[in-house]
Amino acid sequence: MQKFLIAIVVFFVLPFNLNAFQLSDTTDKGKIVIYSEYRDISPGEVIKISLQSPKCSSAKAYFEGKEYSFVPDREHSALFLLIGLGLDMKPGVYDLNTCIDFPDGSQKNYSFKLPVTKGIFPVRKITVDRKFIVPSPEAQERIIEEVELVNEVYGAYTPGWLCNGNFIVPSNGKIRKNFGEKRVFNNEFHSRHRGVDIRSCRGSKIKAANSGKVVLTRNLYFAGNTVIIDHGASLFTIYCHLSKTFVKEGESVHKGDVMGLVGSTGRVTGPHLHWGVKLAGKFVNPLSLLQLSFD
Ligand SMILES: [Zn+2]
Repeated sequence: MQKFLIAIVVFFVLPFNLNAFQLSDTTDKGKIVIYSEYRDISPGEVIKISLQSPKCSSAKAYFEGKEYSFVPDREHSALFLLIGLGLDMKPGVYDLNTCIDFPDGSQKNYSFKLPVTKGIFPVRKITVDRKFIVPSPEAQERIIEEVELVNEVYGAYTPGWLCNGNFIVPSNGKIRKNFGEKRVFNNEFHSRHRGVDIRSCRGSKIKAANSGKVVLTRNLYFAGNTVIIDHGASLFTIYCHLSKTFVKEGESVHKGDVMGLVGSTGRVTGPHLHWGVKLAGKFVNPLSLLQLSFD
């Protein structure tokens, strides 16, 4: 994780790390500070942008043609937003533009450069039951319905931030660093792995990685028994292949609440927890979210 300070008004690149930025500006609206926090700037990573501007009424950022809203942190001492770098992002320098609104209708705008590096992801061959490679017509119908349902869940925007402090690992066990892995199933079907797998014994407890609202508990064809939590501000955590689920849709959960047990439902080769994170429509690496500070 990296935190950096730069005490000048315009964008400044630190000589020892091309990715770093922080800005501090003394204005007629008081002091404005913007700074970043992240593990890396490469596909699948999460970038946290914090803003201190006590007199502002709201603030937004624009990245890759998308608008992001800043939300207050837990202490209401600063605003922040999270940007997820998609797995398909090409290396290059991307513009991040921020726009801060003040009650008198005036605005302040600041721009930053994000140099995105190339993501390196291994290839893994996996053999699964043939029904997961060539689903029956009934299963295909089911899969289409499930994709629509899950997309609807991810499309909902809950304003504000429901989390309580930093994220935690949801289950005991060995965490495989296999986010983004290029997978070849039965030598014929290619896909990307959009989460990390935690190898736990069948029946191990699965906890909420942070507080939020349960927005889906279903048995899905590929993901098996699945729980999705909405943490607010377009951030969702996903828990798949459960043997048992103890929570219901619409229920609020606190960080650390036990929501179910590890199992091997859906397309798996053995019991484990598949843990995913979706941020503003993009799957990102849960391990990069763990590195960010929300206290
Ligand atoms: Zn997985």
